Parts: sequence; C-alpha cells; structure tokens
Amino acid sequence: MAGIEDTMKIKTRSLRHEVHFVPSPEAFSYAEDGIIVSDGDAGGYHRPEAGNLVLVGSEDPACDALEWVDDPDDFNRDVTTDQWNAQVYRIAKRIPGLAIPSQPRGVVDLYDVTDDWIPIYDKSDLPGFYLAVGTSGNQYKNGPVIGQILSEIITACENGHDHDEDPVKIKLRKIDYTLNSGIFSRNREIIEGSTFSVLG
Ligand SMILES: Cc1cc2nc3c(=O)[nH]c(=O)nc-3n(C[C@H](O)[C@H](O)[C@H](O)COP(=O)(O)OP(=O)(O)OC[C@H]3O[C@@H](n4cnc5c(N)ncnc54)[C@H](O)[C@@H]3O)c2cc1C
Repeated sequence: MAGIEDTMKIKTRSLRHEVHFVPSPEAFSYAEDGIIVSDGDAGGYHRPEAGNLVLVGSEDPACDALEWVDDPDDFNRDVTTDQWNAQVYRIAKRIPGLAIPSQPRGVVDLYDVTDDWIPIYDKSDLPGFYLAVGTSGNQYKNGPVIGQILSEIITACENGHDHDEDPVKIKLRKIDYTLNSGIFSRNREIIEGSTFSVLG
C-alpha cells in the first residue's frame, strides 16, 4: 500500500548516532562555567550535561563512517568502543586533564535525516495531516519556532490556502525576518550545498 512518503519528493532515512558522557575536568566546572562548543577542526562538539558531565558528540567528519539503519525499531543501542574512543579522545586533545572513565557511558539514538539534511515542516497529501519531521540531527531546541511555523501553515491550509502553490510567508517573532516556509516543503528540489548535504 502506498504510504504518505511515497507522495513526497524528499525522503528521510535513519542514521545511528552516539553521544558520550565524561566527568567535568577537576580544574573547571562544566556545570557552572561550561558552554556549547562546536569544534569543526576536531570533528566534534561538546556541551555541559546534567550532573557536571561533559556531553561529547561527533560532527560527522569523513573518518566517522555514517551508519544508516534500515529498521528504526531494530538497531544497536549500546555505545561502541570505537566511537567512544574516537569522540572522547578528540575532546581530550582540547581539555588537558580530562579524566577518561574506563567504562563508556552515553546515549545512542537515531537522526531522522532528509535528502538534504533540512527538515520538512509542511502539509501532506492527506487532508488534516501535517509534517514536522526530518530534523536531521540539527533542530534541538527549535521547538518554539517550529510551533509557530506549523501553526501558521495549518491555519492557512485549513482556511483554504494553497500552500503548495503559494508557500506561507511567516514573520518571525524575535527577529526582523520573513521566512518563506516553502524551503521546508516535502516536494522541494534537494537543496544542494546545504550545510550537511555533502555528507550524503
Ligand atoms: C544522539 C542524538 C544527538 C543529537 N544532537 C543534536 C545536537 O547536538 N543539536 C541539535 O540541534 N540536534 C541534535 N539532535 C537532534 C534533535 O534531538 C532533534 O532534532 C529534536 O529532538 C527533534 O525534536 P522533535 O520534537 O521533532 O522530536 P523528538 O525530540 O523525537 O520528540 C518526539 C516526542 O514524541 C514522542 N512520541 C513519539 N510517538 C508518539 C506517539 N505515538 N504518541 C505520543 N508521543 C509520541 C516521543 O517519545 C518523543 O518524546 C540529536 C539527535 C540524536 C538522536
């Protein structure tokens, strides 16, 4: 039976990802003074995590193989030694004195990745069913603005507006910018050169 995704140009795939936890270094409290760091040169990022921990993630440098998952209900939820070593030793180069626990700790879950790593915030071909999917590992804490985008798309569509033909323009509340929500269409052409599209 045809699913709703069969009617969409942009598809999504599941990508397995690991984040790891290490204790804050003794000389510096991540809980009190930590910030979010994107460290492209080292291919990773880190930020404070509850319990005075440092959360360490990968920014998918070419040396980290992408692990696509066919069945999102069936994948390895355990931290792997290889990825633990890669991510934790990368951050250890930046934080002298970081204690690396012998027992790996972390969280393993799936990114919902679109063809161009840009989300889909849109109507669907099923009346009354709307989409906020394909966040591609990069929409954390964007909930409030996604709520605004979706509410304006839904209000327009439910009042008869043809959003596919004339995408809803959204005046953002916090910055002086009007967003053409067509960029998030399920039927857009793949946006070449988008931040992550080079990853495949
Ligand atoms: C390992 C990992 C690391 C990440 N790191 C980052 C990062 O550093 N920066 C970044 O910007 N993004 C990151 N992301 C992506 C970010 O987490 C997602 O983009 C974001 O959580 C998406 O928010 P959401 O509300 O759409 O979905 P979710 O956060 O997945 O929330 C969906 C909620 O719906 C619930 N739910 C599902 N089905 C049902 C149902 N039938 N009935 C009721 N409830 C249901 C789920 O339990 C869940 O609580 C990461 C993702 C992963 C997996």
